Amino acid sequence: MTTYTKKIALVAHDHKKSALLDWASQHREILSRHHLFATGTTGRLLEDHLKLPIRKLQSGPLGGDQQIGAMIATGDIDFLVFFWDPLEPLPHDPDIKALLRLAVVWNIPMACNRITADYLFASPLLEQELPDTRPDYDAYRQRPIQIE
Ligand code: PGA
Repeated sequence: MTTYTKKIALVAHDHKKSALLDWASQHREILSRHHLFATGTTGRLLEDHLKLPIRKLQSGPLGGDQQIGAMIATGDIDFLVFFWDPLEPLPHDPDIKALLRLAVVWNIPMACNRITADYLFASPLLEQELPDTRPDYDAYRQRPIQIE
């Protein structure tokens, strides 16, 4: 069976970074079979910790979340592990919301806590070639617009 390599983005807010590092160590073997991307600080820590190559984008508050969102929209990220912090107000809250929204718009698997990430990584789908699950938005693009 051929393995379908996924493009996985990993992001953790500061108070969730140790949880992500711990989770990623537990799943290092699986992660090593995929292409990994991360926001800047998360990526630096993961690379040190896992000794795996990670494409590091900007730090989240400096645009990294938006970069990942844009990559989801263009099909360049197809799996998101995002341990966001529900107890801390953050300066880039609009970017966080935008990233969560785009993951839903483009129907990609997304884990926002460890238990969900564990379930997703236990799924046989992770190592399978999937049918194209990107929604067809042609009807939306062609919707009639009333010009005033
Ligand atoms: P960081 O960004 O990995 O650069 O800390 C994460 C975030 O705050 O979105």
